[in-house]
Amino acid sequence: MPTPWHPGHGFGLLVLAYPKPLERLIRAFERFPGIGRRSAERLAFHVLRDPSTRELAVALEDAAKNTRRCGRCANVTELDPCAICSDEERDRSTILVVEEPRDVEAVERSGAFSGVYHVLFGSLQPGEGIDARHLTIGRLVERVRREEIREVVLGTDPDAEGEATALVVLEALDHAGLVLRVTRLARGLPAGAALEYLHRGVLEDALEGRVVLRRLPEA
Ligand SMILES: [Zn+2]
Repeated sequence: MPTPWHPGHGFGLLVLAYPKPLERLIRAFERFPGIGRRSAERLAFHVLRDPSTRELAVALEDAAKNTRRCGRCANVTELDPCAICSDEERDRSTILVVEEPRDVEAVERSGAFSGVYHVLFGSLQPGEGIDARHLTIGRLVERVRREEIREVVLGTDPDAEGEATALVVLEALDHAGLVLRVTRLARGLPAGAALEYLHRGVLEDALEGRVVLRRLPEA
């Protein structure tokens, strides 16, 4: 005879479920990259157990409300244009194109670059359906068209996705018929090393030894 603690015998509705608000929290964590159901559950219970993590809610709200994308370089910022784009001291004719805001952070920390940036917000990831349309390439082309840009330095990561992304950016600039110098950070970089892990000296060398892909026509 079926019993309530032995489901499957006419007790199909016997489902062990978390309370709705908890389930909602778990599902929210599950949307984070690399977080599966088990990790999401662990994080959710951690939040419930430790009251200090409530700060997370405030931080989430604040980050969502008070950050935007810079209208020029697409980086995350509180003010638009961002501090780097509004800095008169910087060489605004040279744009270093990077994948992520953390690359800007790393290059800035190194102090090796005094130009401005353009953040693509990712790289081509064909497996995950991320193509050129998901990146800010169109905005970069518009920007180069509008502003007086002398050089675009392609600083995407030296891995397969980064190389493919650099190529697509180069093609977009070519396609727009823009006359400017386009360079790629030197390959002396450790294989696969993202910008964010490089030290000042390495970054300086990579900038110094950048490879010219398109040069300005002789005057
Ligand atoms: Zn900016």
